[in-house]
Amino acid sequence: MFGWFRKRRRQRIARRRFPDHWEAILHSNALFFHSLSSAQQERLRRSTQIFVAEKNWEGCGGLQMTDEHRLTIAAQMSRLTLGFADEYFDDVKSILVYPDAYLGKSQDQIGSGVVVEGSSSRLGEAWYRGPVILSWADVLATGRQENFGRNVVIHEFAHQLDMRNSPFADGVPVIESRQQAEHWLSTMARDYERLSALCDAGVPNVLDCYGATNPAEFFAVASEVFFEQPNLLNAEWPDLFVLLRDFYLPPNH
Ligand SMILES: [Zn+2]
Repeated sequence: MFGWFRKRRRQRIARRRFPDHWEAILHSNALFFHSLSSAQQERLRRSTQIFVAEKNWEGCGGLQMTDEHRLTIAAQMSRLTLGFADEYFDDVKSILVYPDAYLGKSQDQIGSGVVVEGSSSRLGEAWYRGPVILSWADVLATGRQENFGRNVVIHEFAHQLDMRNSPFADGVPVIESRQQAEHWLSTMARDYERLSALCDAGVPNVLDCYGATNPAEFFAVASEVFFEQPNLLNAEWPDLFVLLRDFYLPPNH
């Protein structure tokens, strides 16, 4: 029953007029928006409205939360979920935003169910069934494509997809069929080893060596590159590209 009410509420939200100043924010802070088809743009506007309305948006470290913050982040969340039906990250109730890289409060909190980027100075975090924490400076640089193919929002929400089936981020999100899961595991394991070897040898490639930290970071970093530099990913890591394309943008989406 709750699901039915939620669906009705979301339909009502998605029918609201998309404000002109929101549209302007998408055009200036979500440059990928220009490369979408008009049907994808329309779907993105609807899910962006739902994310803005449903999430608890909190400014931290003196940041005063505005529509610009909410829209810029929600647009990237919508981009990640364009190929999914009704994916609104229900486990993520709150999104906390700091002005810039921030200092973690306690190392004790780091463990199962938490993925933290950086050690003391952090760019983002994803908590199992908990908040996503972001640095606005990085979000904005990402949205304006000034971040060299990095995308902190895609990265943190890829961790959330990863932790959907277990508090331990292991680079394996929920996958429908056993056959697909086996293909995922073998491709990811092989390419993770390949990235580790390239990074050990100092050979540059499109995937950041942060992805060689562990399989969870490999999935998150590969997801960033899939959205930000798909042609380069396809050229250098064709099997990984196809795996992520079938996951994020399945043929009948
Ligand atoms: Zn990460």
